[in-house]
Amino acid sequence: MEALQGKLNKAIIYSNPGTRETEVVKLPIEAPGPGQVLVRMLYSGVCHTDYSFCTNSWKAPTTVPKGQIGGHEGVGEVVAHGPGVVNPPVGTKVGVKYVASACLACRYCLLGKEANCVAGKLSGAFHPGTFQQYLLAAANYVTTISDEVADDALPGLAPIMCAGITVYTALKNSDLRHGDWVAVSGGGGGLGHLAIQYAKAMGYKVVALDVPSKQAVCTEAGADFFVDVLGFTNSEELCKHVVKLTGGGARTVLACSSSNAAYAQAIHYLDQAGTLVCLGIPEGELKPIETASVALLVTRQLRIIGSKVGDRADAHECVRMAVNGAVKTHYQLRGMEELSDVFAEMEHGTIKGRVVIDLR
Ligand SMILES: [Zn+2]
Ligand SMILES: [Zn+2]
Repeated sequence: MEALQGKLNKAIIYSNPGTRETEVVKLPIEAPGPGQVLVRMLYSGVCHTDYSFCTNSWKAPTTVPKGQIGGHEGVGEVVAHGPGVVNPPVGTKVGVKYVASACLACRYCLLGKEANCVAGKLSGAFHPGTFQQYLLAAANYVTTISDEVADDALPGLAPIMCAGITVYTALKNSDLRHGDWVAVSGGGGGLGHLAIQYAKAMGYKVVALDVPSKQAVCTEAGADFFVDVLGFTNSEELCKHVVKLTGGGARTVLACSSSNAAYAQAIHYLDQAGTLVCLGIPEGELKPIETASVALLVTRQLRIIGSKVGDRADAHECVRMAVNGAVKTHYQLRGMEELSDVFAEMEHGTIKGRVVIDLR
């Protein structure tokens, strides 16, 4: 900690929760306590969930407090240990995830559902997140990153810590077999373009659905087919087209698009005995999936599951795939002062792939 004396922690705070307003402030650097490491954060991805927490677009009853430091997919380097902590060693590159810490003892943790931990803390929501230079992290919950990773590969790993883990775990939970068809709605977005790459790397075929401006991102990610969601006169035509492309429907749909319409369509292009994995949460009023009638679920033996990030093993596995080159994040690097602008771009749906904030 001596080396940090006289330094301050530059952080982005939500200065007026309920709006897109953010502010860059300088805070004292806190010393790590028992069980903690101090991480010098280098990069943080911006997830749509950050936008939702900042603006309260989900209309949650409790808004995050003024001064909240957001962010939940970051990479950095361990610079100090709390009392008694020895691992990961100082100098280790680590990832900080959406789940900031979990008890690792409750029944959900024992099942690997650490995101449901009864005592869990979430990065960037009622607990400080990754939009800051110096972050206190749970030593037993950070994801270590191989020393072999080149510095210029680090920004691309930041989005793996939420978006990557989310889609990788969703695919693992989908009961897929080699060569099965996966449909990715919102294929050109932050989650979607990673979902396409993980699915391809795991041996599946992919049809990506999105607006035409995101076709190139989907194709570059490796999608076998791209479906322009605006190119049909009605939903029925779109669904028929996907069923035709996939020879009977997708075995799994990863719903990365936070749109009620996309969920309603997905039910109709799922293959029999297929799985719809709900990932993106539609904003505004909470609605059920209108097309998911009990009769359809029973007769076609469909499964609808929700999936939220993953456990520590999932994190290591999907980081390893990215480090090995199977997955590359499509990102643009932006400054700390630009977060409000980034949120505005998210609101308008114009971001291709992911935005990564440079915290150096
Ligand atoms: Zn996220
Ligand atoms: Zn727990």
